[in-house]
Amino acid sequence: MPGFERPCACDRCGREYIVSGTAANPGNETQILADFACDCGGRVEAMIPGSVNREAVRVLPR
Ligand SMILES: [Zn+2]
Repeated sequence: MPGFERPCACDRCGREYIVSGTAANPGNETQILADFACDCGGRVEAMIPGSVNREAVRVLPR
């Protein structure tokens, strides 16, 4: 299955992350806004494919 990568940044401290994962149904699917917790307590938001298994998404500092 094809993967995706989305660069994003924390809305509080500006730390940059790469959100990556695998889309179960890539193509013309809807992108959804997902948010993840930064170490500082801020939020990291990224648009990810709607079919992604959220539990399998990786959020890595870059
Ligand atoms: Zn932060």
